[in-house]
Amino acid sequence: MSNQSLLDRSLQSVWHPCTQMKQHETYPLVPIQRGEGVWLYDTDGKRYLDAVSSWWVNLFGHNNLRIKNAIKLQLDTLEHVMLAGFTHAPVVELSEKLAKLTGLGHAFYASDGASATEIALKMSFHYWRNTNKPNKTKFISLQNSYHGETLGALSVTDVAIFKDTYAPLLTQSAQMPSPDFRLAESGETAEAFALRCAITLEQYVGEHHETLAAFIIEPLIQCAAGMCMYHPIYLRRAREICTKYEVHLIADEIAVGFGRTGSMFASYQSCVDCDEADACTQSRDCRPDFMCLSKGITGGYLPLSAVLTTDKIYQAFYDDSTIKGFLHSHSYTGNPLACSAALATLAIFESDNIIEKNKEKAAHLNNQLQIFSQLPIEHIRQQGMIWAFDVKTTNEKFARDCYAEALRQGLLLRPIGNTVYFMPPYTISEPEMDFMLQATFNALKTSI
Ligand SMILES: *Cc1c(COP(=O)(O)O)cnc(C)c1O
Repeated sequence: MSNQSLLDRSLQSVWHPCTQMKQHETYPLVPIQRGEGVWLYDTDGKRYLDAVSSWWVNLFGHNNLRIKNAIKLQLDTLEHVMLAGFTHAPVVELSEKLAKLTGLGHAFYASDGASATEIALKMSFHYWRNTNKPNKTKFISLQNSYHGETLGALSVTDVAIFKDTYAPLLTQSAQMPSPDFRLAESGETAEAFALRCAITLEQYVGEHHETLAAFIIEPLIQCAAGMCMYHPIYLRRAREICTKYEVHLIADEIAVGFGRTGSMFASYQSCVDCDEADACTQSRDCRPDFMCLSKGITGGYLPLSAVLTTDKIYQAFYDDSTIKGFLHSHSYTGNPLACSAALATLAIFESDNIIEKNKEKAAHLNNQLQIFSQLPIEHIRQQGMIWAFDVKTTNEKFARDCYAEALRQGLLLRPIGNTVYFMPPYTISEPEMDFMLQATFNALKTSI
């Protein structure tokens, strides 16, 4: 197929996600043929550095031998079997590994992040019914939160461009002030601001706990709203408040899990009393009641998500009565190929000491950031393997222009509004980081 006919046929037959299709009259699709490491190659052989890890899913590069081989091995034995009434080694091993890593011993599977959110919301609601608190039916989330776009997940999401059109279809939920440090008063520290937001949270929860099922939160970074970062003390306070008033805390680690924020899970960093954030998975008082995982879980290879929860919640469903059970299901629940990709991904974390190595990579990139100081930008921020800054520009098409110019430079960059961010695969090398920054700088100069 010639390139042009591939593009034309895609526009005829494929309805692309998160896209006003008419804009492709001026911004052409990019036809990708193959990937290798941090690079994507188009059908003409031009390559693009994948600075957004293909929508935040890729951890260890494209065409990763170890993950690929694990899937191939699994493919020779069992591609899939339904998980109701049946089980298999990959799903058991993965559940045990995730339990060990999170301190949450029961794993329920689905195939995407939004479904994980739905599952956590339904489980929380159902838990309260099963334990004779049927009035606890409502959910709260943060302003500017993003938890997925199916109707239940969208109900707790607070990003206008995704939500407003569908408002009549959604259930009501209340939004608490976001502790995003950029919203602090001038002179107020990120920590003081986070504590101030937690006071509002406590007031609301204190007044409404009898009808509240759960508080769902993106730990440390509200990624989809534009990499809004906040102080970990807020997570600590949220845990304490939810415990005090008997409201579930749902940690949506779909984007920030698997090392993105510098620890295996961002929730670990709520253990402010503990110096060993990476090691304190067993701590009972900082664990969320539910943790939603997806995106990086398979290293970006196959769709998979999981909701992990506690013995206490699991036990409330364990009963002679069928309808007290959690009857939710998806066809591909616990797919063995996806589980084998996830196991290979976790094995790489262990054998290659990824969390530690990422600290060196982050330090290298941080040292180069001054290249941007001559441009009109503000709020340069970093947490683990995520960097972001906000561009001051009057160009209303900044995000699209910057994206298009970056592509010309050989870089896949997808600004969110005026926020430019990097979320590269962990395998990015120092020269590749330098290339990423230089190409970004060049793209900014023409698009701001
Ligand atoms: C991406 C994302 C989701 C939704 O995951 P999908 O697989 O796209 O449905 C939910 N929550 C957060 C925090 C996300 O970043």
